[in-house]
Formats: sequence, structure tokens, C-alpha cells
Amino acid sequence: MNGREIEKTRQMTQDLVRFPSVSDVSNESVSQFVADQLSAQKFEVEWHSYVDAKNQNKVSLVAKRGSGLGGVAYLAHTDVVPAEDWSLDFCGPFEPTERDDRLYGRGTCDMKGSLACALQAASTIDPQSQSKPIYFVVTSDEEVGMLGAQIVNSKSKYFQEMVEGDTVGIVGEPTKLGVFHAHKGGQRLSVRARGKSAHTSTNEGVNANYQLIPALPELLTLRNESESNPKYRNLDFDPPTLSWNMTITNEPEAVNVTTSLAQANIFLRTMPGVDHGPLLEAIQRLCNQHQLELSINDGVEPWQVPSDASWVQDMLRLVQQPESHSVCFATDAGILQRLKRMLICGPGDIQQAHRSDEWISLDQLAKGTQIYQQAFQHWAV
Ligand SMILES: [Zn+2]
Repeated sequence: MNGREIEKTRQMTQDLVRFPSVSDVSNESVSQFVADQLSAQKFEVEWHSYVDAKNQNKVSLVAKRGSGLGGVAYLAHTDVVPAEDWSLDFCGPFEPTERDDRLYGRGTCDMKGSLACALQAASTIDPQSQSKPIYFVVTSDEEVGMLGAQIVNSKSKYFQEMVEGDTVGIVGEPTKLGVFHAHKGGQRLSVRARGKSAHTSTNEGVNANYQLIPALPELLTLRNESESNPKYRNLDFDPPTLSWNMTITNEPEAVNVTTSLAQANIFLRTMPGVDHGPLLEAIQRLCNQHQLELSINDGVEPWQVPSDASWVQDMLRLVQQPESHSVCFATDAGILQRLKRMLICGPGDIQQAHRSDEWISLDQLAKGTQIYQQAFQHWAV
């Protein structure tokens, strides 16, 4: 890996960050840019689009170069979290700027820097030298419900081919180039009381809070039990618990109007080997008793492969580390687990993602490019 190649990775990261592809707007233009890059490198590109609930066109890409089956896939997403809280004065969130060996900008760390590393790494591999295929899976909406990965899972011909060919999948989320073999999933629930909104100068209203509040101490008891009961723990994770979080929302919120909706929003970080079903049943019983509505939204499954699996061990040798770990955030791997041979390994530190001063170190961009080049060599040449 020479200086010119690393300079190209830095340039490519900046090009990607300039697209303000926050999850609530279309990612079509950044996807077109990535598709053009892949086509220029002789990849065949599948284009999967859908219109989301906010009427935005979303695109996920799956691409393949090289014939045959197996090989290696790199997986990323092009959406980024919102940037309204951006706190740096020397650059805006979508004006990538290098300073003190760091590249700042929304998505530099999660995960356009990683995608740039993989694109640059693939460009250094001569397609003629490949004995097996290299694939790219680049999804939309990873940060908000993972709909892009679901479309890839159900519609992509190349993804189906990867499943059948037992391709090794490298999810490039930021791990500081450590190797991860498991992650938690996510389950959202809402417990809802409905009243009737009216101006409080009248007697017409019914305040929904008065129906929800009596149930809250029991919900808190269930929460405390879920954190302390060993059957809801998996010691492979830190913290080893479901990390039950809860927020409460009211609509409307004006103090002179009775609120017609009171809702407790619960989020559980589910883990492999932990059955949280009994907890959901207990919440359902509580809702029945208090005449509350419970909705259980589509969750992301936790994901795990054996830490001694051959592909995990191979990747550990490439990154020169002794052991793999588990992480507490979910990724597209949860949705794409029909692909058996997966792992997570990407440049950048998750601590620097989703922040108001998001950045990635230039050193991680250089190392990431090198590691992906070695991985493509190892599994596809
Ligand atoms: Zn991410």
C-alpha cells in the first residue's frame, strides 16, 4: 500500500461525506456515486430501490466482480445519523476537513471512511488475478430500521448467490479494525394509553397519563428484574444485560390541553442465547390488567458466529490480533444472517461515531485500506 493509494482513500472518504445522506432523506445520489465507482472497477451492480414511509427514494446496492461462487463480500451502509447538533466551527458536517491527523465530518467514522477503504482496496486487485468473486453490499436505512438490508435479503440475486456459495462477509462497521463475532439485537415496544384531548377550561378531556401512570411502578419492577435475573444475561457481552431503556411521550404536550396519548417507549438490546419472550409475556399481562395497548415492533435479531470459526481466525491473523470480541450495537448482519460466514471488522472507533464532532483518524483509513486489500487477496485471489 503506497502513499498515493492512501491519498485516494482519503479523497474518496471526503467525496462520500459531501453527500448529506442522513437517513430521513434520499440516499439516491450517494448510491449513484458508489455504483459508478464500482462499475468503473468492472463490478456488475444490482440497484434495489424503494420509497420509504416519508416518501423518500432509498437505494441499496449489491455488486459482484469475478466469476464463480464463494469469495468475499464487504458490507456497508450509505446513510448517516442526523447532524443538527454538529458542534465544530471550522467545518460543517458535510464539509469534510482534515486537521491534526483526523478527518472530520458526519459519516467519516460510521461508515463512509470504511466504504472508501474497501473501494480503494478493491481497485488495487487486478480482476484477472481473481479466482473467486468479490462482492459489495451497500445498504440504505441501516441507522433506522435496516429496511435496505431487508430488501437485499429478500430481493438480491447476488445476495442469494453469496448465501449459496458460502461467501465470507466482512461488515465494515467501526471496530478499530478489531474482529467481532457477535452483536446484540434490538427490540422496540410501546405501551400506550389513549384519552381525549380538549382545552382544560372545559370538562371534555380525558388525560391519558392517568391511565398509564398506575402501570409504571410495575413496568419498573419488570425492568429491574430483567437487569438482575441471570436468565436475561449473556456474559459474552459487556454489559451482559438487555439494557432496558424507556422514554415517555405525550401528545399533545401543551399544559392547557388534556393529553390524548401517553406512551412508554421501551428498547431492549437482545442477545444470542437469551429468550426475552417471558418478559414480553409479562409486559402483555400488565397491559391487559391496566387496559393499555402493547405494540411489539419488528426487531433486529442478535447475531453470533463461533469465535473459533475458521474465517474469524483467518481475519484475526490478517489484523494480527489474538482474539475476537462481541459488541453491544446492532448491524445489518442481524438481518443478513442467512449468510453464515460473517464477521465485523472496520476502521474507526465507535466512540467517535454519532457524535457532534465525528471523525476518523487518517491512520485508521490507511490501515483499513491495507487490511481490506489483504482480505480480498486472501479470499478472492
Ligand atoms: Zn454504522
